Amino acid sequence: KDKSTVSITVVGASGDLAKKKIFPALFALYYEGCLPEHFTIFGYARSKMTDDELRNMVSKTLTCRIDKRENCGEKMEQFLERCFYHSGQYDSQEHFAELDKKLKEHEAGRFSNRLFYLSIPPNIFINAVRCASLSASSAHGWTRVIVEKPFGRDSESSAALTGALKQYLKEDQIFRIDHYLGKELVENLSVLRFSNLIFEPLWSRQYIRNVQFIFSEDFGTEGRGGYFDHYGIIRDIMQNHLLQILALFAMETPVSLDAEDIRNEKVKVLRSMRPLQLDDVIVGQYKSHTKGGVNYPGYTDDKTVPKDSLTPTFAAAALFIDNARWDGVPFLMKAGKALHTRSAEIRVQFRHVPGNLYNKNFGSDLDQATNELVIRVQPDEAIYLKINNKVPGLGMRLDRSNLNLLYSARYAKEIPDAYERLLLDAIEGERRLFIRSDELDAAWSLFTPVLKELEHKKIVPESYPYGSRGPIGAHYLAARYKVRWGDLA
Ligand code: NAP
Repeated sequence: KDKSTVSITVVGASGDLAKKKIFPALFALYYEGCLPEHFTIFGYARSKMTDDELRNMVSKTLTCRIDKRENCGEKMEQFLERCFYHSGQYDSQEHFAELDKKLKEHEAGRFSNRLFYLSIPPNIFINAVRCASLSASSAHGWTRVIVEKPFGRDSESSAALTGALKQYLKEDQIFRIDHYLGKELVENLSVLRFSNLIFEPLWSRQYIRNVQFIFSEDFGTEGRGGYFDHYGIIRDIMQNHLLQILALFAMETPVSLDAEDIRNEKVKVLRSMRPLQLDDVIVGQYKSHTKGGVNYPGYTDDKTVPKDSLTPTFAAAALFIDNARWDGVPFLMKAGKALHTRSAEIRVQFRHVPGNLYNKNFGSDLDQATNELVIRVQPDEAIYLKINNKVPGLGMRLDRSNLNLLYSARYAKEIPDAYERLLLDAIEGERRLFIRSDELDAAWSLFTPVLKELEHKKIVPESYPYGSRGPIGAHYLAARYKVRWGDLA
């Protein structure tokens, strides 16, 4: 029997992320039997709440998977009984010492490990880390801290944050979360590539013409623009989520599946990349739009956003990896809010078939004749490969069809939320899906110069209507590299 115990403290438990993601993910892990036998969950925040009030708040957001509704209510009760709350300030060692005392009572003399999830605004990270590590570290087990983005807003502030964290924690105690790495199809990228003979030999400049990483949201900031306005879409989505996927996509075969081996390969990719140039970026901002009698507000109509804000809500960028495998291949990124659809996908466009026998059967649009592999990360997870196929019949007419792996059709299982995997990994000490500090530095050095230039030159973003496909500039950028965005084809 396992004699050890894990205590999980959600710092900022009264907040949005805690309610929406962290508690539901912890419950899902509990339901699946993935949490250790002995565990306790504490919520910590300034708000005054009793244990029961926390339980009541949390209970509203817990759900069971569609395929697992048995004993759902009973399991929820059992889970909630193990959730507690302590109210305190984030900069008070004394309050964290009180938490420590309560944790000890629950740990009841067992060998105890402690996980702190910092679900709080970035300006209070350091204080919370200082107080938690000085007053509430585990005396004899491990103490780990999960930190949420933003990890700074440029190279300097990120380095300062890392430096401050390292005053109180060792690198192996810091788990920087990028929840995109916990998504099923992002994890599957390496499986697809390294365990199928048909992909890896094609994975280079020789056969791949360009790669696209596309993120779109079909809603704007909707009254929560205060945080966003300080960061913008490049920092919020590209520098972290899309770049992490790019690094996984483009890395060389790691020595093993060990976290350090994988992260070593990812950092090599990032360090082989050219810093993004201003010419290779276009920025946009959504403006109000009326459709079907409904008025959709523009970004600067959001009361939490300054009227003269130049913050991009859309960006497209072309990046390059200067190594033997990827020399000259454009890696295009596109991310935006208030667009016509919600999705996240990777598109790999292959080269033309040399001397294609069937060229004349494609008509004038040879672009349509190349293969494209699409990995749809969300929603409706899928992997499909666009191939040329003969239209059945007596004539010889070709069209494009999909070899399609639609997850909902193939796997009758609900896909776990990214936060479940990441929390479980943090508990188990698996660091593969978390960002190491040298990766973070390399990521910032690619984007910091252009972010500063955009701000210093006060580049005005191109406007696009709410609910549209984004600014036209994204097409020109892609066309410069003889690329068409796959999602718009
Ligand atoms: P939040 O609701 O704004 O804040 C979490 C808690 O922190 C609040 O309930 C509040 O608790 C405390 N707090 C808020 N502002 C504070 C201030 N100025 N000074 C001291 N305490 C303050 O944040 P969240 O949306 O849950 O996100 C938490 C963290 O995750 C942030 O770092 C955010 O950037 C990151 N993140 C969030 C999401 C998301 O979907 N929400 C996604 C990715 C990353 P008390 O007043 O009770 O102390």
